[in-house]
Amino acid sequence: KSNFPINLITADMVQAILPQRRKDTHKGNYGKAYIVAGSTGMTGAAMLTCEAVLRSGAGLLKVAIPQSLNNIMEVRLTEAITVPLPELKKGVVGISDIEKIIKTMQESDVIAVGPGSGQTRELEEVLRNIFEAATIPIVLDADALNALAHRQEILKLIKSAAVLTPHTGEMSRLTNIPVEEINRNRIQIALEFAKKWNVILILKGARTIVASPDGKVFVNTTGNPGMATAGSGDVLTGIVTGLLAQGIQPIKAAIAAVYLHGVAGDRAAARLGEYGLIAGDIVLELPYAIKEIV
Ligand code: AMP
Ligand code: MG
Repeated sequence: KSNFPINLITADMVQAILPQRRKDTHKGNYGKAYIVAGSTGMTGAAMLTCEAVLRSGAGLLKVAIPQSLNNIMEVRLTEAITVPLPELKKGVVGISDIEKIIKTMQESDVIAVGPGSGQTRELEEVLRNIFEAATIPIVLDADALNALAHRQEILKLIKSAAVLTPHTGEMSRLTNIPVEEINRNRIQIALEFAKKWNVILILKGARTIVASPDGKVFVNTTGNPGMATAGSGDVLTGIVTGLLAQGIQPIKAAIAAVYLHGVAGDRAAARLGEYGLIAGDIVLELPYAIKEIV
């Protein structure tokens, strides 16, 4: 059934992807990331993504946040710059904010949208505008994927690289393929989607798959069931984004991100056990996971 060349992601592969930092560098050399995430009740998702961006080595981070949530973010995220957005509807990012979003995007090296954004019709319109204007890599997760469900066509508007990070449920909504069918045929479905829409697809789960539009498949073996906990995926989004900010080629950033995310989760589980592990622990172990490799 599977006649694809399947590559297992190894430590050596990831080591080759992550460069040593040169001595004569400054934060401008490590890229500017821009995160559009969070809504009332889900500021935590945005924070986890942002912390993971910073812990992955990006030089600078801006986060777009609905105005009413700005103070919370400023208190919690010391190292990030918040870009408060005017709100049409309280606590969510809407089309009224699009000009400001595009302007900040044009000053950035990567944009990620979706963690905790909330499910609104407006997000689809925000995405359409971002897709049309973007010349930088785009990472799409969570509610950005839900906004695309049954409207994947707008992915065709993207002229730059895109990395999508659905879990199985999001993949099912995105493709309208039942979860059971996806689980029977994960690699082929991931690969077909990546080719069809010219995106890098990270299909998350116990064995996360990275599929490229040119037909390559990579399977991750790090990670553990302790990572099946709220916010875990938001951390992955931050790692991919942080690596992309540093100019790492998108397929390589995706491969390294899923591997490091799993190693960080394994380190957290070794320390805390799988029951008590929470997403923030993955963020805290991430620097050590990177240090193991680089
Ligand atoms: P999300 O559902 O968006 O929070 O994403 C969950 C994250 O945790 C993904 O990166 C999954 O690959 C990872 N994860 C969840 N369950 C497991 C598992 N049993 N083994 C390894 N990784 C897992
Ligand atoms: Mg998620």
